[in-house]
Amino acid sequence: MAATVFTNVSIFDGSGAPRFPGEVLVENDRIKTVARGGERIAAPGADIVDGGGGTLMPGLIEPHAHLTFTCAVDRIVPSFMPPVEEHVFVTAHNAKTILDHGYTSVFSGGATRPQIEVRLRDEIARGFLPGPRLKAASFERAVDGSRQGYGQGVAEVEKFCNEMIALGVDSMKFILSGAKSVIPQHFDEMAYSDSEIGAAARLAKEHGVNLLGHTYNSASIRLAIAHGFHALFHCNFADEATLDLMERHKDEFFVVPAVGIIEAGLKNHAEMSEHAIERQPDAQQGLRQIDEGQRKVIPEMRKRGIRVLPGGDYGFAHNPHGRNAWEMELFQHKFGFAPAEILAAATHQGADLMGMGDRLGLVKPGYIADLLVVAVDPLKDIRILQDKAALTHIMQAGRFYKRPEASRQAA
Ligand SMILES: [Zn+2]
Repeated sequence: MAATVFTNVSIFDGSGAPRFPGEVLVENDRIKTVARGGERIAAPGADIVDGGGGTLMPGLIEPHAHLTFTCAVDRIVPSFMPPVEEHVFVTAHNAKTILDHGYTSVFSGGATRPQIEVRLRDEIARGFLPGPRLKAASFERAVDGSRQGYGQGVAEVEKFCNEMIALGVDSMKFILSGAKSVIPQHFDEMAYSDSEIGAAARLAKEHGVNLLGHTYNSASIRLAIAHGFHALFHCNFADEATLDLMERHKDEFFVVPAVGIIEAGLKNHAEMSEHAIERQPDAQQGLRQIDEGQRKVIPEMRKRGIRVLPGGDYGFAHNPHGRNAWEMELFQHKFGFAPAEILAAATHQGADLMGMGDRLGLVKPGYIADLLVVAVDPLKDIRILQDKAALTHIMQAGRFYKRPEASRQAA
């Protein structure tokens, strides 16, 4: 039996409670014991890992990734849709880059080639490639589905769903409004009828697949809630009545606004992008409108206890994979979230989004040992999580993905 004891650490357990000094015993893939204060764990034969006074916390969970978007901090790929042979490797590389930055789980928000994402999920799960545990998603089904070769109407939506379910996706993504994300003329454009989404909801339920919505305006948020969508992305333009509705149904869905992509666009990082929609002439105006909307709506959602998770839409040249933890700094400084609240959202609430909140995202006996040691207390300065060098240890299901050379030799 493989056993590891983390000692000389302060523990942030993922619940949002303050850190406490302690020790953690991991056996095989699970957390076996959490000791508090001066309590010591006796585990003869275990690998003793000195955390150097760092913070031990659950691995981060990215709640709205697009691994098939091609750009990462350590590699910018100019084409958004490279030849499939290249795309497979680029996507696998993106998964590794995200794991290097402390994200041990990823919930997909859609794939330009879902076939790649589904296969990559399985390769990672079987231990053949490095990467976060992954919930894979379908195409992002656009206004009329035409980008992916589907037509309009209930039968075409059903065809899409059946094909995606057969492929093995965990989630199906529908762009319900605002298809061209930052172009103001498209913000209110509704893409689907109630009967089309009703058909998708029936199939999703039958096969245990999540529905994800790109929901910009109030009508799309209401449509998504009416049909039991699991995650609502963006929600920048929710009006008062819609916020009331969201509050009444707040235990039924998660909101992932994706703030970094807007911030990067406003800061003109868009110039760096070969393919960013942000370069279109109306885009700067659109970005400003979205920012105005989210500055109102996100603090309001927080106040109402709606679950808002940090992450989303990394993978463009101006906002590459690996920069995901920037989102947490933005949550704190733009919207006034407290660091402990943000970290709980990035760990245990993320696990709830994954459908694994009963076994993932907490430092608690019985939970899967996806763990980080951070050299500096992230509750004091959440920006530290953007520095991958500060992540001294990364463990997935009880196995080290990263640990310092010295402690490896000592072991
Ligand atoms: Zn997205």
